[in-house]
Amino acid sequence: MIQIEQFSKRYGSFWAVKDLDLHVKRGEVFGFLGPNGAGKTTTMKVMVGLVRPTAGRIRVGGLDVVRDPIRAKQIVGYIPDRPYLYEKLTAEEFLAFTAGIYGLDYKQQTKRADELLHMFGLEDWRAELVESYSHGMKQRLTMAAALLHRPELLVVDEPMVGLDPQGAELVKGLFRRISTELGGTVFLSTHTLEVAEELCDRVAILYKGAIVAQGTMDELRAQVGDDGSGHLHELFMRLTGGDDAYPRIEDVKL
Ligand code: ATP
Repeated sequence: MIQIEQFSKRYGSFWAVKDLDLHVKRGEVFGFLGPNGAGKTTTMKVMVGLVRPTAGRIRVGGLDVVRDPIRAKQIVGYIPDRPYLYEKLTAEEFLAFTAGIYGLDYKQQTKRADELLHMFGLEDWRAELVESYSHGMKQRLTMAAALLHRPELLVVDEPMVGLDPQGAELVKGLFRRISTELGGTVFLSTHTLEVAEELCDRVAILYKGAIVAQGTMDELRAQVGDDGSGHLHELFMRLTGGDDAYPRIEDVKL
């Protein structure tokens, strides 16, 4: 479903991502892990056609995101790490606007919008302006909008940020069902390693723009403890700068 080949992105003289190769199969829930600044958002933005690659190629569903941007966008849903919404629209207006961009039929879209507003607990707020929503409600509306056109691939940057525990459970269940029942693919970044362990079929750990480990949870755990009993947390710390990422708290002046 996703083929990333020798992908690099440079900002000025700084390589945010360098020579990345990654393949994700259709129907997988794939976790993209890595510390702040590792290059996760950059890769995802190129994947959804918001940023151009410096080198290499990314294909989604066989479509090159640079050469075939419109068709590629039609099969992808993107949930950014922050909800970018129009504050002066209501939830139903925002969904109608988004449906228009995807060229959805009016009747189909109103039915689908109703289902999604119900799923994300926004029914009672559907006619209220987005500016009155809490952060978590905005995040849920962003998710509803990303699912309107029934994407084959969902690209999600930090899905759990701002959600309450019930919202987080809803989203985890949703991603699992998209994969198991619809055969859809979910590519998500997260700093919550427990979420990755619970949800993802496979993960990749990115560090300074390069993949330092990838595989199923069992494969990665086996890299920590030979019997497979290790925790992803240990491997993550070991491969991504560990305790040296920040100064020791004992050493800093408060
Ligand atoms: P986080 O976990 O903090 O969200 P990330 O893994 O998503 O981090 P990116 O946002 O992809 O990291 O950033 C990777 C690197 O690229 C960082 O060093 C960042 O400062 C740099 N970068 C990202 N966008 C730009 C930009 N538009 N201009 C210059 N540098 C950028």
